[in-house]
Amino acid sequence: MSNNVLYVADIIESTIVDGIGFRTSLYLSGCDICCEGCHNKKFWDIYSGHPMKIDEVFEKITVSFTNVTFIGGEPMLQAESLVVLAEKIKNNTNKDIWIYSGHTYEEILNNKLYLNLLKHCDVLVDGKYDEKFFQNNIRFKGSTNQRIIDINKSLEKNKVVLWSDEEDSLCYNH
Ligand code: SF4
Repeated sequence: MSNNVLYVADIIESTIVDGIGFRTSLYLSGCDICCEGCHNKKFWDIYSGHPMKIDEVFEKITVSFTNVTFIGGEPMLQAESLVVLAEKIKNNTNKDIWIYSGHTYEEILNNKLYLNLLKHCDVLVDGKYDEKFFQNNIRFKGSTNQRIIDINKSLEKNKVVLWSDEEDSLCYNH
């Protein structure tokens, strides 16, 4: 696989479900996690997506004011190319990047390639989708076992620090 290319299942503009605020979600094809009950089985084969040059993806996902989310599929499968894209986003825009992965934060730390991509992103939603922990209307997650992690703070403090915004903080106070 060339690292000039990304296999893209879809690009959804102005969504509010894949992270805080309005975002452009880049759906990467390919997944090797195979969670039972996955809603995105059609993305499991990497070649189900269409190949796009990184520059082309960059133009498409940064054209509007929205922030960016890498989701799939399993974005870590295309970590090498996504690092190039994430660097371009960080060097040329002030957008933040959320990334979803079926791997846990701890698993990502143990893989140099995945860790490199993680370091270019701001927030990680981690872990497999688990049907047993499915709940309707949980913000930004499919099941309650998944965590929303503040990447910079977690790397800095060497422990998992959950992401929160004002609304979350209010919830935690209840
Ligand atoms: S990681 Fe995501 S795309 Fe992959 S099997 Fe699990 S839910 Fe489906």
